[in-house]
Amino acid sequence: MIQEDPYLLRNCIVAENRKKRPIIRDVADKCPFCEGNEKYIDQIKLEVSSEENKFLVRIVNNKYPICDTLSSPYGVHDVVIDTPRHLEHPKDFSINHWESLLGAMQRRWEEIAHDPKIKFIQIFKNYGKEAGASISHSHWQIIGLGDIPYHMNLQYEHYNAFYKEKGSCYLCSKLQKLESDYIITECDDWIAAAPYISEFAHETWLVPKRHKKHYGELTAEELKSCGRLLKKILRGYDALEAGGAFNICFMSSGVKDSFDYHFYIKIIPRLSNWAGFELATRCYINTVHPKTHVQMMRNTLKK
Ligand SMILES: [Zn+2]
Ligand SMILES: [Zn+2]
Repeated sequence: MIQEDPYLLRNCIVAENRKKRPIIRDVADKCPFCEGNEKYIDQIKLEVSSEENKFLVRIVNNKYPICDTLSSPYGVHDVVIDTPRHLEHPKDFSINHWESLLGAMQRRWEEIAHDPKIKFIQIFKNYGKEAGASISHSHWQIIGLGDIPYHMNLQYEHYNAFYKEKGSCYLCSKLQKLESDYIITECDDWIAAAPYISEFAHETWLVPKRHKKHYGELTAEELKSCGRLLKKILRGYDALEAGGAFNICFMSSGVKDSFDYHFYIKIIPRLSNWAGFELATRCYINTVHPKTHVQMMRNTLKK
């Protein structure tokens, strides 16, 4: 079970085994994610090969999981190694590489969702120390849980309430009225925008234009254009010198509940730490107005 206090709006998962995680930054020869170091990794669950017949993307069991299928909280915890090269940055992945990665993560999403006990799946990326990555070799994590985290459940309830009152999805209705000042770029399938309520400096959301509840519902074409856009945004961040540490979070509905939700991806550069005010109130102080961020990104992407 996820431990939660619904009155003080607190929840947590205690995972003391995570303390044993190795910290690997520069020493490529001991990195468990590098090609040739397979002895350091657990079970390989899914692999995509490159044209040279080497691995391109590899999804493995997390050796230091926050959950498992034998204890509480029930769940699965995977690591997605998204490149065989220790120093390759995701902004430099080719479009085909991005497509393979997003496709592999969707296949794994579907496998995990197939388990009748799994109610919620979180896909996320921590890149850099400030974003929480203990291994500098680029990777993602997929956590499938038998419980829904408290704040996600609250969002689903509010979504359902909005739908009942207005007869439409909350994000779909926001997209229809989105002011151009908040749009960084768009394609047939996605809008890259700064949210009106940006909690972090340079926060960007990628939102599918057609209503999708979760990652499993995206089409192959939407995954391809998503990869193209993620690469573009990460290159933009790099040019703004906001490309150090960052998190990418896939925001999905629960796997099999009746709640509606509109899938989106948030990208958050980790330029500062949470301080006392944020820790006390969960109200974030953002030093860059979302419209300023949009202007800066547009100027950068033009070059
Ligand atoms: Zn490595
Ligand atoms: Zn929608």
